[in-house]
Amino acid sequence: MKISLFNIASFKIDGGAMFGVVPKLLWSRVYKSDSDNLIVLTLRSLIVETEGHVILVDTGWGDKQDEKFFRHVHLHGGEGLLGGLKNRGYGPEDITDVFLTHLHADHCGGGVEKTAGGNGYQLVFPNAAYHVSRAQWEWAVKNNPREADAFLEENILPIQQSGHLNLIDEEGELFPGFSVLMCFGHTPGLMLPVIEYNGKTLVYTGDLIPTAAHIPLIWNMSYDIESLKTIEEKERVLKTALENNQILVFQHDENVECCNLELTQKGIRAKEKFDLALLTK
Ligand SMILES: [Zn+2]
Repeated sequence: MKISLFNIASFKIDGGAMFGVVPKLLWSRVYKSDSDNLIVLTLRSLIVETEGHVILVDTGWGDKQDEKFFRHVHLHGGEGLLGGLKNRGYGPEDITDVFLTHLHADHCGGGVEKTAGGNGYQLVFPNAAYHVSRAQWEWAVKNNPREADAFLEENILPIQQSGHLNLIDEEGELFPGFSVLMCFGHTPGLMLPVIEYNGKTLVYTGDLIPTAAHIPLIWNMSYDIESLKTIEEKERVLKTALENNQILVFQHDENVECCNLELTQKGIRAKEKFDLALLTK
């Protein structure tokens, strides 16, 4: 198995919304914000090559929306989606599987682009199956006022129209050494990859634990649809990870790629923070 991680782009988001009920006095000590209360998040995507599959986990925002939409996102830095793949030796046609943790715009937008004429949409990865959980798919196409800004038709419907959509019903192994955890607190059917690599287990924590600062059980995003479920799911993931010496991989943390865990008097916390490259050398 080959595995790598790259930042598609960084963006800015309201720090208060990212830490929910936690007072700024507390969260700003562990995650820095600017004068507008914005914090920087990365869009770290994972590439996993295993037994004939080249799997891309999440695709970032993409570029289909207008300038006004992206003005609020403050995109900067990163390698770009196709740039990051190219830097690791992959073209869009090499990707066999696009694994979408969920269908919020910052996770799936890069998988669909406008056609050359600009009138239609096409897949960015023409040879890939696009994997989404059935629970998330059904929830996203129905949409709701809370997530309306995040579920954008142009990111979602073209996947189905292309015939490349594969719906996943339950947890378990999807590819050799690559299995799926299913969560429902952030949004129904959020899928987290769990990867067996070189004798280690990596858990890509996506929007369940977006940054290392979100490890404390009640440090959660206001975006979560069901906050009590998020707490239960985090407890399960963190306990399992602690007991089995698993490594967490963060999608959105500006400063921390990976960590292992330890039990402290306050609960489960990050022990050592490191880059994924430490494991792949
Ligand atoms: Zn999300």
